[in-house]
Amino acid sequence: MADTIVTVAPTGAFPTKEHNPAIPLTPREIAEDVYECWQAGAAIAHLHMRDDAGKGTMDKGRFVETVGRIRERCDIVLNLTTSGDLNATDETRMAHLIELKPELASFDAGSMNWMHSTLFINRPDFLEKLAAVMNENGVRPEIEVFDSGMFYTATHYIHKGILRGPGYFQFVLGAPGGIGATVENLVFLKSLLPPDAIWSAFGIGAAHLPILFATLALGGHVRVGMEDNVFYAKGRLAKNNAEFVARAARLAREANGSVATPASARHILNLPTPKALAA
Ligand code: ZN
Repeated sequence: MADTIVTVAPTGAFPTKEHNPAIPLTPREIAEDVYECWQAGAAIAHLHMRDDAGKGTMDKGRFVETVGRIRERCDIVLNLTTSGDLNATDETRMAHLIELKPELASFDAGSMNWMHSTLFINRPDFLEKLAAVMNENGVRPEIEVFDSGMFYTATHYIHKGILRGPGYFQFVLGAPGGIGATVENLVFLKSLLPPDAIWSAFGIGAAHLPILFATLALGGHVRVGMEDNVFYAKGRLAKNNAEFVARAARLAREANGSVATPASARHILNLPTPKALAA
């Protein structure tokens, strides 16, 4: 069986220190946290930035600083969000990709009602522009699927040649407004995939563990971190993101034999080694 890739999503756009005091928010905190997660077995870090008030921001300077701090310390694969601020312009959502040319970035394959309170907008013209920017800058899309319709939207772009195949899909279960976090829904989403697709999944909040267990049982890659869930167990906050990573790595080793290093994740995802890391 292939190595299991553990992705850590340490920050996200919404959780605060009130949800979990250990959540990393500044570039320095995020870089330190990602380094600890790398030591614990994470091969990919999915990054969001926060402004001085702790709100999600697509500020390019924060991405540049954080990526620089991480690159000084470890070879973890970097996956930058393109959806870190629901009010950002299309250009602001893509500027950091042009500047930093990360190996991966999120591609949210559709729009939805977000958290029963606002809109998460990914218009068709934006998605086509985003795919073009990713192609031009050598960024592989991590296709985030919050509901089965988004899978079909992404498949449409792959068939049209707008997105390069095979897809690397991240199934998000349990986001309010998206598909519910049940094992049955995960099995259904996996059943849609073409045989050459690479996939990962996670559940939001209390659904985190059942979806983690089911994803490992189905042979998928996994994602953990405070973007998705701040509790390690019922009523017990996680000490830090590395605690989530260590558990996922241990479970993956027990379930499937081995956990991917950043180098093996690059091999699985067909990512070139970044110039900054080439010896
Ligand atoms: Zn994210």
